[in-house]
Formats: sequence, C-alpha cells, structure tokens
Amino acid sequence: MTFHAADNRYETMPYRRVGRSGLKLPAISLGMWHNFGDDKSFEIQRNILRRAFDLGVTHFDLANNYGPPAGSAETNFGRHFKDDFAAHRNELVISTKAGYDMWPGPYGEWGSRKSLLNSLDSSLTRMGLDYVDIFYSHRPDPETPMEETMGALDYAVRSGKALYAGISSYTPAQTLEAARILKEMGTPLLIHQPSYSILNRWTEDGEPNLYETLDTVGAGSIAFSPLAQGVLTDRYLKGIPADSRAAKEHFLHGSDLTEEKMGRVRALNDLAGERGQSLAQMAIAWILRERPESSPVTSALIGASSVSQLENNVAAINNLEFSEGELRAIDACAVE
Ligand code: NDP
Repeated sequence: MTFHAADNRYETMPYRRVGRSGLKLPAISLGMWHNFGDDKSFEIQRNILRRAFDLGVTHFDLANNYGPPAGSAETNFGRHFKDDFAAHRNELVISTKAGYDMWPGPYGEWGSRKSLLNSLDSSLTRMGLDYVDIFYSHRPDPETPMEETMGALDYAVRSGKALYAGISSYTPAQTLEAARILKEMGTPLLIHQPSYSILNRWTEDGEPNLYETLDTVGAGSIAFSPLAQGVLTDRYLKGIPADSRAAKEHFLHGSDLTEEKMGRVRALNDLAGERGQSLAQMAIAWILRERPESSPVTSALIGASSVSQLENNVAAINNLEFSEGELRAIDACAVE
C-alpha cells in the first residue's frame, strides 16, 4: 500500500538544536544497527519506519556495516526510502558512518581517507541517495593522522556527498582535536555520537568531560544505546525472551544480565512506575533531561524491533521533567 504520511506528524515531537549549528534533530531518533538487516521481516521494518516518520522521527541513523549481513541495513533502507520516503527527502536527516570492519583487506575499516571516502560512495549506492545529511567517523583510528580522517569528512561535505560531519566514540581530548582541525578546514564539527545511558555514563567522566568539551566547541550529541540494548526496558524482567537480542547472543549476552544488574533494573522499573512511565520511557527521558551545559544531549538514538516498542519509546516525550529526588534515586540504582 502506498504510504501517505500523517498530516499531524509535526505536532508532538520536540526538535532540538544540534549544538550551535542551524540543524535541529527530533528528541528521539531511530537507529538501524539491529532490526533492519536481511534477518528481519521487511514488512516489520517498513511498519516501524512509517510509524516513526508519522510520529515526527525525522532522523534515521545507519552505518556501512549495519545488518546482518554488513551493508544490508543500508540496502533495505534504500528500498524503503524509494517506496515510502523519496517524496520526503527534504524532511529527513539520514546519517551513515565508516570506521568498523566492512570489506576485506587494509582499506575496509578505520579512518584513512581511502577507507572513509570509498565507504561513503558505497553507502550512497546501497541507499540510492545523492547525499547523506551526516557522515561520521565511526571510531577514532589510533594509527591514521587525525588530519587525514578529518580531511576525509571535510571532503565529504565539500563534495556535497554529506551536509555535515560527525564523530563517534572519540574521547574528550580527541573531540577537541577533531573539532579544531575541522574548524580550520572550514567544516564545523556538527555532532558526536557516544554511548550513553543510566547505566553507562563515561561521557560524564573526566575534566573536561565530553559534554563540557562539546559545549566548548559548539557541537551537539546524540546518545546511542540509551536503553542499554534493551536492558533498561521491561524486556528482561522475567527472563530472556526467545526473540530478544540477548537470546541471539549478538552484542548483548545472557551473561551480561547478572542477578545484581537485574536487581538494579527492577528498582529502576519501580521508580519509572512511580513516575507513570515505562522503564524505557524513563531511561529515554533521563537522557533528554535538562543539563547544566548549554548544548545538552540533542537526541536519544533508540532501536526498536516492533512498532509497539517504538510507540512506547516515543511517548517518553510526554514527561521529560525530573525532581532532584528522582534523579538521586536513579543514581542510587545505577551505581555498581
Ligand atoms: P537501544 O538501547 O535503544 O536498544 C534497542 C533494543 O532495546 C531493541 O532492539 C529492543 O530489543 C529493546 N527495546 C527497545 N524499546 C523497547 C521497549 N519499549 N520495550 C522493550 N524492549 C525495547 O539502542 P541500540 O543498542 O539498538 O542502538 C540504537 C542505535 O544507536 C543503533 O541502531 C545505531 O543507530 C546506534 N549505535 C551506534 C553505535 C556507534 O558506535 N556509533 C553503536 C551502537 C548503536 P529486542 O531487539 O530484543 O526487541
């Protein structure tokens, strides 16, 4: 059936400025690391993407290697895009990345100009797009000079194959350096994509920490795995469902769900209940809460394996406020 986007799609989702750039992102964005490979129903993928767009989720995040198999999430997204979203290209922010293993040999990963720019061309071909909105260096490369990696991002933007440049999982010091080099080249660093959740707070460590650093350079951030891959939801409260990520032992393992951790998750689940939210909603709201820095976390980058998960998550925007007491109680459950 032809997709007709909902007329009211911009009525509820908040859009938040990315650092000090001109771009805004939805408070909740959708990632395609899992759930969009060839191992997943094309029909369910379609339903998730359509519903997301109707709920105001204007940002879809990909990478060269998402699948499985690697590349298939981009190929599948290209098919969905052609069927459903081509008429809405200007309403979408589509991102991709390069840096992790993609093809064999010395050029299939990390941060050389060769690897990044060849990968970007392949991503555009798989997705059937003329450009992506954001092109990321997926991880810092300890061997390639930062100037070369940033030069590749700068070239991607100058050549029109990307509109903005981003980095993922760079430390605060690496972020400062990357932003300095990009600024000198005339292509500002738009955004950093770190992991961040109630249970994973590395971005708050160090002086300056990542958020303070991003504030200094005027970049925003988008938090990946805000639900700790499903741990911060009700998914595992009664064991490990057969269709879950942990059951597949793919990045999330049954052994990660220790009794001690699940005790803390149950306590968080109770706190969420007191707020009238699901645990997933509270975990997302916590990511989006008010912060002292002037460039807060721009967006929570979630995954969803069903439309109902997506809808549950997007409803987090109905309550983003926390009392001091609630934040303290969450901290007490989160600390190992
Ligand atoms: P999440 O932490 O949001 O985990 C998503 C998973 O949690 C879903 O697949 C589902 O698990 C479960 N889930 C989601 N919502 C609910 C709900 N309401 N109730 C119950 N269970 C729920 O994010 P991801 O780890 O999937 O990462 C999100 C995105 O971040 C990726 O798609 C990617 O775009 C990006 N990312 C970037 C990385 C980087 O290096 N830059 C690394 C990792 C991710 P199940 O499938 O079991 O149903």
